[in-house]
Amino acid sequence: MSIHRIIFLFIVILFSNSCKKTLHIDSPNFDKTAAYTNVRQQVNFGPRVPGSDGHLACKDWLVSQFKSAGAEVIEQGFTANTFDGKSLPAFNIIASFNKSSKYRIVLAAHWDTRPFSDYDPDTSFYHKPILGADDGASGVAVLLEVAKAIQSKPLKKYGVDIVLFDAEDYGNDKDNTERSIYTWCLGAQHWSKNPHIPGYKADYGVLLDMVGAKDARFTKEAVSMQYAPKVVEKVWTIAKAEGFSNFFSDELTGGLTDDHSFVNAIANIPMIDIINRPATTKTGFPHHWHTQKDDLNAIEPLTLHAVGTVIIKLLYLEDVDKI
Ligand SMILES: [Zn+2]
Repeated sequence: MSIHRIIFLFIVILFSNSCKKTLHIDSPNFDKTAAYTNVRQQVNFGPRVPGSDGHLACKDWLVSQFKSAGAEVIEQGFTANTFDGKSLPAFNIIASFNKSSKYRIVLAAHWDTRPFSDYDPDTSFYHKPILGADDGASGVAVLLEVAKAIQSKPLKKYGVDIVLFDAEDYGNDKDNTERSIYTWCLGAQHWSKNPHIPGYKADYGVLLDMVGAKDARFTKEAVSMQYAPKVVEKVWTIAKAEGFSNFFSDELTGGLTDDHSFVNAIANIPMIDIINRPATTKTGFPHHWHTQKDDLNAIEPLTLHAVGTVIIKLLYLEDVDKI
């Protein structure tokens, strides 16, 4: 072996060690198999459209799951007044840990599913609700495993509020006027105006929406960058250190009307959106988005794992910071 080769090997070893730089922090592991099962359980209730039997049954299941994970759970009931003239019973579900701490992080997802398959190539499915394995269930599934992780190793300083918004996906996609924005995210609008605790504040929030598909690409979304650029940087830095730069892209993409938009604008809590924005689809969302194909086949446990691991690392890093 020549000296050049030895030097070369030395450089390779140095380089590979620096690439493997992980965040040395004592935090629980994320259980991707359990997270996948959480998606399946929700999908087994059928579509979770407000006013449906599946919606009520799934709500009760979620409440019991988060209670078993050691959270204090509040069901915040409200009436969802939809753009098509319905008044439907809806519920935000708030699962809290360490309620007395003044340091708080909100983790959010929507648990309802869209009543229309308005992007299905088969237009006869237009009025069929979607199963929402990715669009809804994936974010909730990750957050349930995050709750179990907190239960297994309680945070010392930080309090966490997991907020599952209802009636996110009942919006009017045919109306391009400014007012149509308010037909979406009815649960987030309600909670932002009427938080579960009057005067509620949190340091910041992270919303998960469509975090379960194979090869998901999470971009730096404009509303997140406008209101909470430091949170975006923090989360993306952790993702890279954990080896998930294949999922977390540095690309900037346009702002979305999603639950975080209202939490930022109304509740004044800086909140980012981790959401799948593929580079190659016409809609800018995954192929299964708002179609009958958003079923269990759309879910890849490795994607749930990447997102769940990043969220857990974030919580435990923040917690160590405050000790
Ligand atoms: Zn949707």
